Order: sequence, then C-alpha cells, then structure tokens
Amino acid sequence: MSQVTTAPAQHATTDEFNPFLSMARNFNTAADHLGLDEGLREVLRRPDRELTVAIPIVMDSGKLQVFTGYRVQHNFSRGPCKGGIRYAPDVNLDEVRALAAWMTWKCAVVDVPFGGGKGGVICDPRKLSQGELERITRRYTAGIMDILGPDRDVPAPDVNTNEQTMAWLMDTYSMHVRRTTTAVVTGKPIALGGSRGRREATGRGVMISCREALKKLGLRPENSRVVVQGAGNVGGIGAELLHREGYKIVSISDMYGAIANDKGLDIPAVMVHLKKTGKLAGFPGARELSGAEALELPCEVLVPAATENQITSKNADRIKARLVVEGANGPTTAPADAILEKKGVLVVPDILANAGGVTVSYFEWVQDRMGYFWTEERVNTSLEQIMVKSFQDVDAVMQKYKVSMRIAAYILSIDRVASVYKLRGVFA
Ligand code: GLU
Repeated sequence: MSQVTTAPAQHATTDEFNPFLSMARNFNTAADHLGLDEGLREVLRRPDRELTVAIPIVMDSGKLQVFTGYRVQHNFSRGPCKGGIRYAPDVNLDEVRALAAWMTWKCAVVDVPFGGGKGGVICDPRKLSQGELERITRRYTAGIMDILGPDRDVPAPDVNTNEQTMAWLMDTYSMHVRRTTTAVVTGKPIALGGSRGRREATGRGVMISCREALKKLGLRPENSRVVVQGAGNVGGIGAELLHREGYKIVSISDMYGAIANDKGLDIPAVMVHLKKTGKLAGFPGARELSGAEALELPCEVLVPAATENQITSKNADRIKARLVVEGANGPTTAPADAILEKKGVLVVPDILANAGGVTVSYFEWVQDRMGYFWTEERVNTSLEQIMVKSFQDVDAVMQKYKVSMRIAAYILSIDRVASVYKLRGVFA
C-alpha cells in the first residue's frame, strides 16, 4: 500500500538536531538577502511531493516483515528530481525532507539541470542478508516507481546503498516498463551503464574543494594536517585522494571509532586493512580513540564525511581546524555554524563540497541517454571544471553579500531556482 501525502506546512520550531529546520533556517537567511517574498519562500522551502510506502518482505526465516520507505521530491523546477537513497535504522521523514531540499540547492550550486529528491528505507543493513536487501530494494522500487523515471526522478546511492543496490533498482524499474532503462538511476556498475569516475566523484570533489579553500587561506597541502570522519565512499576515497595530494591525514574514523597518528597515516595501507578486517581498529602503528574525540584533534582541515549533526553546539568550541570541508550532508548544526564563524573557521558547505557525486551522476545520466560513454579522463576533467567554477561562483557571492560560505551557496542556488520558477510561472 502506498500513500501520497503533502508536506506539512509547519514543523516543530527549536530543535538543533532536526535537519529540515536547519535547512529552513539557512534558507530563510539567504531568502532575506535576496528579498524573496513570502509566497515564493513557501513554494521553494517545502517539498513538492512525499511518498511513504510499506515494504512487505519474506525474510530468510520465512517470516513476513514490513519495512517503511520514503521518497521525497523537493523541487523539480530545473529538471528531474535527483538524489540518493539511504538505508538506516533511524532514517525519518524530516531527515529525508532536508536531504531532498539540500539536493535541490546542491544541483543548483553546480548548475546541473536537476531538482532535488531523496529516499530512505528504515532498516539495518548489517542485520540483513544479500537476499533480504535485494527483496527490500525491489519492493521499495516497485512502491515508488510511479514517480520515478529518467525525466521524473533519478535516484542514486547514499548511506548504506551502493552500485549493486542501483543495479537491482534499474532492473526492477526496467522489468516493469518492459525495456532496459539505464538512465532511471545513477551510481550503477560501469558494466550496466554506470559512469567511469562516479564511485570516486564525491571524494574527488571534496579534494578539489579542499584545495581551492586552502588557497583562499594561504595554506599548503604539505603543511596541512587533516582529520577525516568516515571511511566509506566519501571519507575513505576523499582521504586517499588527499593523501595522494600530499596532505598529512592524522586521523580517520569509521562507525566503530577512530585511529590516529600525529606523523600521518599511510592511507592506502589503512584502506587495505579496512577491506580485510572490516574496521579501522587494529591498524598497526596508530592509536585508537573515539570518533567524537577525533573531531577535536589538532589539525588544519576537518572533513566530516559521515552523517548529519556531528559538529554541534556541544563540541564546536573545541574544534581546532581552520577549515571544515563538509563531505557529508548536514554534518554541522546551525548553532555550531555560528560558533565556527565566530572563531574564524572557514566552512565549505555540503551543498558545494560534496557536489562532485551528483555532478558525475549528471554525466552518467547524459551518457546513458546518449548511449556513448566517456573516458575517465574526460569525466575527471569535466568534474574539475565544474567544481572549480562553482567554488569561485560561491566565493564571489560570499564577497558580495559579506556572508558565510554556506549562506553564499544558499543565496546562489535559491536565486537560480527562484528565477527558473518565475520564468515558468505558476501552473493552474
Ligand atoms: N547521495 C549523493 C548526494 O547526497 C549523490 C546523489 C546523486 O548522485 O544523485 O549528493
């Protein structure tokens, strides 16, 4: 059974950890600078469509269990909705709403012709077999497929989903429409119409953002100690690329804890260890500490690349980094942002810093539709150009309005979406 609901106009007001409220607060600040009227604000702030589906699955035990899935389409003024699907035990509608809205702003910051969407399934993938994960993915896809399609809404991987998940999604959609439709999803295996360079794209974008921001601060990679939170697709690959560029990665963490070495970690060896043992702990020559402690280590650059609400009013004062590059979506709460700004810490916001992923997703969608596939070099060069230009665009808005880089990114993207909305006019 699926049920379409419209977004509630009101949300609870004072919760630091509600990502949708955080998004709305930054949105309002940026909208004030742009002088947007209240009606347009309401249109752009609230999600356009939200779908909640029940996902009944026969578990390996033979028992029937019902999971819950969401797909939120925030805004499609600039093109089909675009955004990942995450699997997590605590995923909730307000989180998916915020993530969908961030996708709208992210796609506008890098100027790719997409709106924003996001999906989530409440489940704990660590406790599910491959077969159960496949059945959940297929049934979830069938549940939301009326609102999917290459011209409607194009999902991608996010937390705890990967190329295999996207392959099942693509196959389920294709079986229903009775033709192979690769462009319905991005982040697929290369053999199935995926793009070269997509897997590394978010980490690569983080590395480029880091480089551009360091130039702004007059720092050099070889003199910069980096703490990375997260060792997955964003943190792990980001750390490898930063290590290759000569940065000293002094700490990296996963869901179990952090490892650190003041002299710098041998990241390629760390990644081999992680692959072999399933965790960072136990890496020879590194000391172990909690993920929360690692955030407060002395360093020049902090890359939160895990989940939301990691830098908060509780720990922001103790952050030592001069630069924060947000690999994750929403890792810094609004009160923490204010504290960091007062301390003079430069924060490259998520909707710019981690936009490399969706940028190469755009290239993948284009390649699928052309049926012509690019070399990795072409992908990486095009990504580099877009990331550098986007960084410069945001920087220019930052200088013009004398605001933080986050508010500048919101101003740039909201202005882009609002102008398209006005050009199209209100459908009635
Ligand atoms: N989940 C990624 C993000 O948050 C990628 C989205 C996409 O490629 O559509 O940006």
